[in-house]
Amino acid sequence: MASKKNVYFFGNGKAEGDAKMKFILGGKGANLAEMTNLGIPVPPGFTISTDVCAVYYENKNKYPASIKEEVEAGLKKLETVMKKKLGDPNDPLLVSVRSGAAVSMPGMMDTILNLGISDKSVKGLASKTGNPRFAWDAYRRFIQMYGDVVMGVEHHLFEDAIHALKKSKNVELDTDLTSADLEKLVDEYKKIVKKNSGKDFPQAPLDQLWGAINAVFGSWMSERAIRYRKLEDIRNLKGTAVNVQSMVFGNFGDDSGTGVCFSRDPSTGINEFYGEYLMNAQGEDVVAGIRTPERISTLEKKNPTIYKQLVVIKNRLEKHFRDMQDMEFTVQQGVLYILQTRNGKRAGTAAVKCAVDMVGEGLIDKKTAIMRVTPGHLDQLLHPMIDFKAQKQANVLTKGLNASPGAGTGRIVFNAKDAELWHARGEKVLLVRKDTSPEDIGGMVVSQGILTSTGGMTSHAAVVARGMGTPCVAGAKGVLVEGNSVEIGGKMYNEGDWITIDGSSGEVYEGKLPLVAPNISKDMNTFLKWCDEVRAGTVRGRIKGFEVRTNADQPEDAKRAFDFGAQGIGLCRTEHMFFEKDKLIHFRAMIVAESETERKEQLKKILPLQQKDFYGIFKAMEGRPVTIRLLDPPLHEFVPHTKEEVEELAGHLNMNADKLALKIGTLVESNPMLGHRGCRLAVTYPEIYDMQVEAIALAAVECAKQKIPVHPEIMIPIVVTARELRLLRPNAEKVLEKVFTAAGVKVPVTIGTMIEVPRAAIRSAHIAHYADFFSFGTNDLTQMTFAFSRDDVASFLPTYLQKNVLDVDPFKTIDQDGVGGLMELAIREGRSVKPDLKLGICGEHGGDPATIDFCYRVGLSYVSCSPFRVPLARLAGAQAVINNAGNNIMGGGSGSTKPATAKVKGSKKPVKGDKKMAVTSAKKPAAKRKTAAKKTGAKKTTAKKPAAKKKTAAKKPAKKATAKKTTAKKTVKKTAAKKPAAKKSVVL
Ligand code: PEP
Ligand code: MG
Repeated sequence: MASKKNVYFFGNGKAEGDAKMKFILGGKGANLAEMTNLGIPVPPGFTISTDVCAVYYENKNKYPASIKEEVEAGLKKLETVMKKKLGDPNDPLLVSVRSGAAVSMPGMMDTILNLGISDKSVKGLASKTGNPRFAWDAYRRFIQMYGDVVMGVEHHLFEDAIHALKKSKNVELDTDLTSADLEKLVDEYKKIVKKNSGKDFPQAPLDQLWGAINAVFGSWMSERAIRYRKLEDIRNLKGTAVNVQSMVFGNFGDDSGTGVCFSRDPSTGINEFYGEYLMNAQGEDVVAGIRTPERISTLEKKNPTIYKQLVVIKNRLEKHFRDMQDMEFTVQQGVLYILQTRNGKRAGTAAVKCAVDMVGEGLIDKKTAIMRVTPGHLDQLLHPMIDFKAQKQANVLTKGLNASPGAGTGRIVFNAKDAELWHARGEKVLLVRKDTSPEDIGGMVVSQGILTSTGGMTSHAAVVARGMGTPCVAGAKGVLVEGNSVEIGGKMYNEGDWITIDGSSGEVYEGKLPLVAPNISKDMNTFLKWCDEVRAGTVRGRIKGFEVRTNADQPEDAKRAFDFGAQGIGLCRTEHMFFEKDKLIHFRAMIVAESETERKEQLKKILPLQQKDFYGIFKAMEGRPVTIRLLDPPLHEFVPHTKEEVEELAGHLNMNADKLALKIGTLVESNPMLGHRGCRLAVTYPEIYDMQVEAIALAAVECAKQKIPVHPEIMIPIVVTARELRLLRPNAEKVLEKVFTAAGVKVPVTIGTMIEVPRAAIRSAHIAHYADFFSFGTNDLTQMTFAFSRDDVASFLPTYLQKNVLDVDPFKTIDQDGVGGLMELAIREGRSVKPDLKLGICGEHGGDPATIDFCYRVGLSYVSCSPFRVPLARLAGAQAVINNAGNNIMGGGSGSTKPATAKVKGSKKPVKGDKKMAVTSAKKPAAKRKTAAKKTGAKKTTAKKPAAKKKTAAKKPAKKATAKKTTAKKTVKKTAAKKPAAKKSVVL
């Protein structure tokens, strides 16, 4: 059997590979091959494939058996084409050895230039080129790079030597050193190598070559490369390729030079040639910043021939690759060579502009344009950012969670009150705290940013900051607040000191850094409309479209989200409506009420406040659906904490502060997140939800009377059993009926629930009987599935991520196997009872692109996220549609209008569309298939359980508590009879 090909040659207008072979040749190798085939002037060479890298690591740093022979054959071919031999004492061929994976990892892996020079061949190079200075300079550069990268000699030792030489010669620039100086320096460098590595600098060309190849393959697993892949979420690559290419020299004299250029401006996206170059230099001189490069436009005057050639090539490459190109070039004695081309990395503004312009130019279609812009690009455009140049020079003090995007700079304050006071004096403040709670809201609103030392992605600070669009870095372990000073990354700061945070990266900087304002352009609107079209056009089984809603609690937030393109509100957290000081006091008074009468008294005061906010939100949303969640506060977030707050409330209630403190003490729970919250509050105090439903109904009536379209959806949280809904739903219906009858107006209102407790997910077939819709509350569902407290996770999660116990923060990106598995189960079970059950997600994950893709695949109708993430979700949703086109999603797949028919367990009749969700996962591309297959298996087991139980239970009720169950069933049947969708008898 012929062994696998590992080495691919390119040169003389023909290459053995092409651009499609990125995964084998790496991005650089594949494009060098493609350019060679296109007739672009590329120095010849060969690429050792990424397969070799994979084998190298699989076999404990051993290469495939044939590799030596193949590399040497490649080298022979190169020598023949170049009519030179590597290391030839009279006229040596010099090569570069460079890395290049399928996905670009700039600067993360190793490169060696000028390989092939030795003590003998340096002389040949000098005489052949007639330029001894050039030859000795190339040799010293080679020893410096090879010594550092391959032999592990510290770079600064070489730098110190050249610096000392320049000083002794009283010159400033490297270019001021003579040939004799450089010859002396080479001698010095070799001694440094011997002293620090214990080895002589290798003289045999093949030894040099293999040393460099080993180093490049070795750099694939260097710490920085591993970290970069993790940060950028680069997975499933085989490894790096190695490109061995004949050298061309930009440092040959004044008719030579080197540069980097882009076919369009990578910061603005404007279609003009952009770049810089240096004459008489090698690439590393540009990077080292010793000399300032010139703008590419000046080349037009200095060397019009080369400039024209470059323009022709960049146009050709951009047309060919249909994307903005980032190219490296070298001119050697008036001859132009292209050393690399790749799709250029770009800033957010440029990404959107290029995408829209290229559609206009007919270069790409709209779907391609949508895939070209990343959610991160859009995020950049919606928030202030730290000025790029200033950020590069700034000192990063520490890093926390990137909890709410954008940058903020301000003077440190340690509590909300001071934040407000300082703000009133016209100061810009940055609130630094261990964590935040509802009473901090006033200070949070006026702060330029929020930095906390504890708390995760769904902590109070994170959720509230995201909602307000305020930058936030949460859970920063390197921050220690001690009274009126704080230690950040080991340095002490006091109240009033300036710091800057970047909530997009989680970084904290010293001092006041300049910020750049967000830029929402006409192009962005055009672009997002295309995204909306794609989402609106998708059909999965019985579900048409894939919407983006928002989580908003105030009319202003709703308005902002509407302007950002939200198609409704997926979550209005009513307890967040009490963050304002004048409302908070009434809310607190209600919480501490001693009796039902007292509570009702306080509720009466809250009702008009709620009604006003609901009215404002309905109006802002212009008839789009508004899901209002009834009260769900973990009470610990709202009870007064400090002595002053207790006294303030006591004054308001006209009662003794000590007595009030005692009452508050009785409300303290050991585990409030699992305590008296959500619908549990309404089971014990039905009057609370009654008031809220009344406020919703009154606001809806107000709108209807003013001919403002209105579409309320009432959502009941923290449900664990269908019995809770069986109890609470009729209450809500009664209140609605009463208000509508009194007003003589009827507004359709649906009543649904959140699935945010594992038990609810498992029992969702039963819960669906009483719910018109489900919304997945994945914050709590994640918290309860993992048993990771969402407020305390920051103390151990970073270590979990670092030690690869988890790949990602499950509060940021949905855990598809665990939490996602529960969601799939709930979807299947819920829709087995109600095939058209509306399903969405309103946990913080709803703004995360990977989660959005998952939500699309499992058949949710919409995702809901904070207002500032809406544009990003519009894009990520469209990308999910495009990415999954052709996958058999729910028997339909994007663009299909054919609902599938499948028999669903637990339902007597065949139900259309539903069961196919399991198929969805099975049809995922290769990488995900494995997990999906596992999931399907798991689902089978879980799915069987409820069905089995149903059967037994239906036949004969359990002996215990028979009486209760019988009554329960009767009531259920009665309720179910009213509701056409609930056809089966229900076991709760
Ligand atoms: C959730 O649990 O996902 C949710 C949206 O509710 P909250 O974050 O308010 O608990
Ligand atoms: Mg919740």
